[in-house]
Amino acid sequence: MIRKLLRKVFRKAPGAPTAQAASILVEQHGIRREMVSSAARKVCAGLQEAGFKAYVVGGAVRDLIAHIDPKDFDVATNATPEEVRRIFRRSRIIGRRFRIVHVMFGPETIEVSTFRALHDDDTETDEHGRVLQDNVWGSIEEDATRRDFTVNALYYDPTTETVLDFHHGVADLKQKTMRVIGEPDARYREDPVRMLRAVRLAAKLELILDPAARRPIRELGPLLANVPAARLFDEMLKLLASGYAVVSLKRLRDEGLHQGLLPLLDVILEQPQGARFVWLALENTDSRVRAGKPISPGFLFATLLWNEVLKAWKARREAGEHTQPALFAAMDEVLASQAEKLAITRRIAADITEIWALQPRFEKRAGKAPFRLIEQPRFRAGYDFLRLRAESGEIDMELPDWWDNFAHADTGERETLLVADKKTKGTRKRRPRRRKPRGDQAPVPAEEA
Ligand code: ATP
Ligand code: MG
Repeated sequence: MIRKLLRKVFRKAPGAPTAQAASILVEQHGIRREMVSSAARKVCAGLQEAGFKAYVVGGAVRDLIAHIDPKDFDVATNATPEEVRRIFRRSRIIGRRFRIVHVMFGPETIEVSTFRALHDDDTETDEHGRVLQDNVWGSIEEDATRRDFTVNALYYDPTTETVLDFHHGVADLKQKTMRVIGEPDARYREDPVRMLRAVRLAAKLELILDPAARRPIRELGPLLANVPAARLFDEMLKLLASGYAVVSLKRLRDEGLHQGLLPLLDVILEQPQGARFVWLALENTDSRVRAGKPISPGFLFATLLWNEVLKAWKARREAGEHTQPALFAAMDEVLASQAEKLAITRRIAADITEIWALQPRFEKRAGKAPFRLIEQPRFRAGYDFLRLRAESGEIDMELPDWWDNFAHADTGERETLLVADKKTKGTRKRRPRRRKPRGDQAPVPAEEA
């Protein structure tokens, strides 16, 4: 009992004593309260009026200082989840390993987390030291010390427009350095995903990974194998949807973090054929994200795995399988090979499959088929995919161009496009003329056969 009490009093993060905060003023950090979403401001105000501390925290503060649009705003408070829940009518407690509250204001959801205590000997971990349960409340100093990087341990109070900076995060950000709070080796063992986060965030913010933060990654990279598939998948999605996928993946490869850990990354980074297609797709995604346009995980993964599908499909056709069933079998095979490591959700898998399955249907440009295809709810995604294939040189640009014309034509014009197409196809693919059969039976014209 006493030992436990002593431990509670003298609890420390691995190698990182809790620190005093520097108060940084708006002249230095540049964040005006209007730059924070109104929902996040309301959450902070609501908590403060009820007598609690409340700050915008983490990535949003970091991004605002770095002049990047934050993806979302998180709030940290000394109110417990139950107390937060009572203050905001539209809110709910979520999570088990890490309990937080979602507070809804209009279309926005703000994640509110209670200050966490540092880990101690009682913290539940797996045999590699990975933390499993994380619901012990603590002080703001402790909360700051358990965050991953100095640039992430920043607390912004919209009321006073002050940033509390416990680990020199503002200075690191200005000096373009990414530093781990505490002892990198221990912090990576505690949660190996931090290695991926280090590389991803450094790429996004154009920061240099501090040598101490970088050094252990080669040795500890294999610990990622113990992280549950669903968490890795979330992290990959974040990386791919960050608007900085191309630089992030290149940096991951440089750090040797991709090898053997995520089959998907092996596929992406080590395929000589199809590499052009994948990088094009990623560039395309990055520019969509940066322009504020939506992207779909299904489309993204469909592009990343397409080359594998092409390979498997070809092998099956060469083994004598029919085109369509061979494609479906190839799709299943490729998705199954990823399932082991990456928990691609059923919904995303369905999206991926739909986009792939549409591809051979774009080849049919005669009869009723094009009219049916264009009415498909996934036509647009399928078409975008087709265009990427052409841009990467896999197929002729003539095909997406034809579909572009067809999609923009009115019904009458569409008929003429079809006919024109039929003619060109007919001349190219005409079958050897059969000799007139004896008797009165006319031969079936090639196009209708
Ligand atoms: P992004 O721009 O991708 O949202 P982020 O840093 O905001 O980056 P989140 O996952 O939103 O990432 O996490 C919010 C904050 O929670 C982080 O800024 C960091 O302070 C803390 N955090 C997140 N993941 C970890 C982790 N694995 N270990 C320690 N702290 C973490
Ligand atoms: Mg965030």
